[in-house]
Amino acid sequence: MGLTTPSAPFDTAAIFPELEGQSRTTVRLHPRRGEPAITDSSMGGPLLWPADEPWPSCPAPQTHNPSEGFDPLPLVPVLQLFARDVPELPFPDGTDTLQVLWCPVDHEPFFQPHPVVRWRKAIAAGSLLVETPEPHADSDESYLPAACVLSPERVEEYPAGWALPREFRDRIWDWEKNHPSPDGWGYFSHLSAAPGSKVGGWVDWIQDPVQVECSRGHEMEHLLTVASWEYDAQSCKRWTPIEEQHLLRRFQVPELQEPADIMLGDAGSMYLFVCLQCPERPVEMVGQCS
Ligand SMILES: [Zn+2]
Ligand SMILES: [Zn+2]
Repeated sequence: MGLTTPSAPFDTAAIFPELEGQSRTTVRLHPRRGEPAITDSSMGGPLLWPADEPWPSCPAPQTHNPSEGFDPLPLVPVLQLFARDVPELPFPDGTDTLQVLWCPVDHEPFFQPHPVVRWRKAIAAGSLLVETPEPHADSDESYLPAACVLSPERVEEYPAGWALPREFRDRIWDWEKNHPSPDGWGYFSHLSAAPGSKVGGWVDWIQDPVQVECSRGHEMEHLLTVASWEYDAQSCKRWTPIEEQHLLRRFQVPELQEPADIMLGDAGSMYLFVCLQCPERPVEMVGQCS
């Protein structure tokens, strides 16, 4: 089923001309509980994995929160995205599949799971691994995503409030105070960056923005976000898909708000960044929570 984000209630750039030209397209993934196949794009679903490729374990146990110990835990599937579903991804030459796994315990410095990314060519996987390892008993339950199918949707968005210059942000707040929308629309929750798990577009920063560089010193771009929540008590008003709005009468609806049943810190998000100058497309993470 396709899911459709309602369009913005008014033309935000007409009120704040600084936003002219700052609109970007993000791909909301809209994870929803389901039974994805190994050949489907998914969150927390089975990965298309060559039978002769060892299942990965944590590459950085030294960055585990010391209280978690140092066992090399097997990674768990987080995202699988095929080019046919999300062609916007910057696939390295010869690849058409992005897989994100993570080590399901807290890692320093963000106290979030440690992500590992594989870019691969689906057809080259050959015979597939059918039995994947069960999560280790020491895994943090809130880092074991429930299997979800995806409904990628392209949405126009503006920069997150925290990404704007402070002076502009203050002016937005002043304007909202002096011209309260009769329907309660506000920039941060309703008119800026889309919340939830998504590919590309603006980062929906929960705190101050962070600039990320690859190991060769190139500035990196937002690759994707894995979010604890698809929206919160305020932002649901704008970002709940039209097809599901009737369900919101009984807020909160866990299968819409936290479909994969993950919790990164206090309703936090994992932001992955990619280097578009390095051909192998290295990825780095930043974790934030409120
Ligand atoms: Zn680990
Ligand atoms: Zn680079």
